[in-house]
Amino acid sequence: MKILLPTSTAGSLPKPSWLAKPKTLWSPWQLQGNQLIEGKQDALRLALDDQDRAGIDIVSDGEQTRQHFVTTFIEHLSGVDFENRQTVKIRNRYEASVPSVVGAVTREKPVFVEDVRFLRTLTHKPIKWALPGPMTMIDTLYDAHYKSREKLAWEFAKILNQEAKELVAAGVDIIQFDEPAFNVFFNEVNDWGIATLERAIEGLECETAVHICYGYGIKANIDWKNALGNEWRQYEEIFPKLQKSSIDLISLECQNSRVPMDLIELVRGKKVMVGAIDVASNIIETPEKVADLLRRALQFVDVDKLYPCTNCGMAPLSRDVARSKLNALGAGVEIVRRELSA
Ligand SMILES: [Zn+2]
Repeated sequence: MKILLPTSTAGSLPKPSWLAKPKTLWSPWQLQGNQLIEGKQDALRLALDDQDRAGIDIVSDGEQTRQHFVTTFIEHLSGVDFENRQTVKIRNRYEASVPSVVGAVTREKPVFVEDVRFLRTLTHKPIKWALPGPMTMIDTLYDAHYKSREKLAWEFAKILNQEAKELVAAGVDIIQFDEPAFNVFFNEVNDWGIATLERAIEGLECETAVHICYGYGIKANIDWKNALGNEWRQYEEIFPKLQKSSIDLISLECQNSRVPMDLIELVRGKKVMVGAIDVASNIIETPEKVADLLRRALQFVDVDKLYPCTNCGMAPLSRDVARSKLNALGAGVEIVRRELSA
């Protein structure tokens, strides 16, 4: 199957209100026990249905079974104490109460394999599965054991690699690592961040992606973005090294962002998931606005390597808005496809 401009989302979609409180990060579940298991699966079906109706080509679980894109994975590891919480500053931006690493971190059993198997039974489309990246994981924790960000990142990379291998065996086509922290800690990214990511993808028999955004559309992130000035050149710091890495796809925030589009030239040769949907605004993009952004991106990405996408996850949005934005993405891409095949 060779699709021109294959569409996907960065990851999360809003959950139904009967499953979790809407528009809330770390939203508590509204169900328990077997009802919760069934509820998560029903929500996953609905998330897939929304993607199908919008014409999304590479589908995901919409993260319907996770409370949070980092925390839910960490919850399944030993060595992390969820009772012993500490307040840390996430990505130097906002404070959150996070669990503590109190011993050697290990993954005793698979985290998402059952979810992948379930999604695989529902669709023949390629599946992209998001996992947190090592650097973003350590940034969402208090470390009382390793006392070294780098050391802990290498441990997480090993664990992520084990999980990823099992997800691929269960039917995933693209494994994506979410690394919003790459947009903040440039020195660490270049010193060991990309190296730990390479460890996480070692030996994977599937395509691999890294998602680097400016965060969910929550106030702390919007305030930060407003303080970044007229040109956001964060990507410039890490693209040269990423270009040389073995990661196949790079997922970026482009719609309504102040990232100069020509920075994408620095990763020429990579497949680029161009964020054409702003997740920090309730205004629905017109298909023409999506198309216009993709046309501009095509100056810097080869046509066979352009993967239209959303800027980031849509979990904090209302379901209505998220669905309309998905539809706008699908419709906007159709316009460009028609132009390209004319
Ligand atoms: Zn993101």
